[in-house]
Amino acid sequence: RLEVQSLTRSFNGQAVVENVSFSVEAGQVACLLGPSGCGKSTTLRLVAGVDMPDSGHILVDGKTMCDAATHVPPERRSVGLMFQDFALFPHLPVSENVAFGLKGGFSANRDRVRELLARVQMSSHIDSYPHQLSGGEQQRVALIRALAPQPRILLMDEPFSGLDERLRDGIRDETLALLKEEGTAVLLVTHEPDEAMRMADQILLMRRGRIVQQGAPYNLYNAPVDREAAGFFSDIN
Ligand code: ATP
Ligand code: MG
Repeated sequence: RLEVQSLTRSFNGQAVVENVSFSVEAGQVACLLGPSGCGKSTTLRLVAGVDMPDSGHILVDGKTMCDAATHVPPERRSVGLMFQDFALFPHLPVSENVAFGLKGGFSANRDRVRELLARVQMSSHIDSYPHQLSGGEQQRVALIRALAPQPRILLMDEPFSGLDERLRDGIRDETLALLKEEGTAVLLVTHEPDEAMRMADQILLMRRGRIVQQGAPYNLYNAPVDREAAGFFSDIN
């Protein structure tokens, strides 16, 4: 379970994330949805621990990761990352890519790696190198690499943005199924309303550093907080 309380981060005196609070239960997907520059990636970086807030609290399963007196480093937060520019290691085969976050690499974790590969229909690619895979296949490997160490929280920043429409639907569904099975709490960033509607248990609608509305997808769709929010959802069918 991820809990974020009153998170604020400024750059050059300008608040980019302002008093942001939300929580994500284990096995749930929360989507941070909002226009470019509203502070989505900054929020993820704060939760990951690669950036520090000016104020606020971050808790994972009730343990404080970050407050005025505490800063747990990223590698000890039980947080997995899947960012679009967080590519696979080109010099390592799929097996070692998936095992990268595990002690002892592939040779010490054969069963876990094989099980995850099977889960995303990638077993036959275990010895392939990233350049031998399609974009969608690389994304599936990146997903299970992030999940291999069984993080309590998975942070995803526009993870499906490089894929064509047809491929994207399949991978979204596959990803959701795997996340539910693993019981991971997921914070997914997107600027596409239909992706949030599809994937989220909870949408956090963000604008200019603040969360302006949060709730189940149908609540935001049926009762948008204002005209701008309504406009955001208007072209979903
Ligand atoms: P996008 O959808 O385009 O990825 P975003 O919602 O992820 O947008 P952020 O990357 O969080 O946006 O950036 C929010 C704002 O904070 C932007 O105006 C950005 O220029 C600013 N910003 C982010 N990081 C820094 C930094 N290290 N120094 C100064 N300004 C920053
Ligand atoms: Mg961003």
